[in-house]
Amino acid sequence: MARPSQRTLQQRLAEGVVIGAEGYVFELERRGYVKAGPFVPEVIVDAPGVVLQLHREFLRAGADVMVALTYYAHRDKLAVIGRAGDLEEMNRTAVRLANQVAGEGGALVAANICNTWSYDPAEPRRTGAIVRAQYEEQLGWAVEEGVDFVIHETNDYFGEALIGLEVCRKLGLPAMVTLATVQPHTTYDGIDYVEACRRLEAAGATIVGLNCSRGPKMMRPLLSRIRDAVSCAVAAQPVPFRTSPETPAFESLTDPDGGHAFPLALERFACTRFEMADFARWAGDAGIDYVGICCGGGPHHVRAMAEALGRTTPASRYSPAIELHPVLGSASAEHAEMEGWTATPLA
Ligand SMILES: [Zn+2]
Repeated sequence: MARPSQRTLQQRLAEGVVIGAEGYVFELERRGYVKAGPFVPEVIVDAPGVVLQLHREFLRAGADVMVALTYYAHRDKLAVIGRAGDLEEMNRTAVRLANQVAGEGGALVAANICNTWSYDPAEPRRTGAIVRAQYEEQLGWAVEEGVDFVIHETNDYFGEALIGLEVCRKLGLPAMVTLATVQPHTTYDGIDYVEACRRLEAAGATIVGLNCSRGPKMMRPLLSRIRDAVSCAVAAQPVPFRTSPETPAFESLTDPDGGHAFPLALERFACTRFEMADFARWAGDAGIDYVGICCGGGPHHVRAMAEALGRTTPASRYSPAIELHPVLGSASAEHAEMEGWTATPLA
């Protein structure tokens, strides 16, 4: 079957930066279609039109990849919310929706698997088999519906990352495998993040890298080290939140009163579109091949990032023209001067 994108992932990587866009779960939670806590994408079957619209917004903003919303749509998670019966429909529909919108703009379609919470490094054989079965089930449906590659993301355990990669390889699918970096230096099973990326490359990953957890500034040093350590493509999908050297991972951010800011009170840490555009520019210069965004990201971030990488996107038609603003614009500044007051220039 013909794919929406005439160019493969590898061809696009050879030509330049591939732009990703994620954060579906957080965005749809904000819009009232995903329940915080379980964070299972029930919206896929409950309100598919809402998912189509968000795909479309990311596509217009410049995303080269439509990521099927199957994050946490695996057997254990659906059982927790009593919807195990919807498992197959949810997975198949998610890939169909991504394909439908990808077809509107020639984008790639990525299947999506993630950390399962079923893996226990103390019992890698027993729990690894459970994880493998869940990935095989999800990706089997994805292959039947049609995908270009797999994004296997927010991996806390190297062992679990490797299992997902093995399933992709067996199915003949290119894999982008990215780690969450909740801990300072190593995965939960004790592998240095850079070393983990090196091993994933050796095991056949097309792209390795990082997603989620860290804000754009705190992700940079690790990305530079990963770029130096591997020769395959590198991915970077930070969260648009200002994490700090004291708190590099957004999961640990706290309010002034000490309460958890993650996952529902993160607004005070939010990055502007300009900060994300700066990150995209940095990443492009640093030789990062797949540049995107994770939890908290919105179409305005993605458009600013795409434009920072030199793209003009369909949504660029409505990119800011602050000079036309009645108060902040240059025309009004001249007028203000005549009237004897000074408008604050926009940096
Ligand atoms: Zn995320």
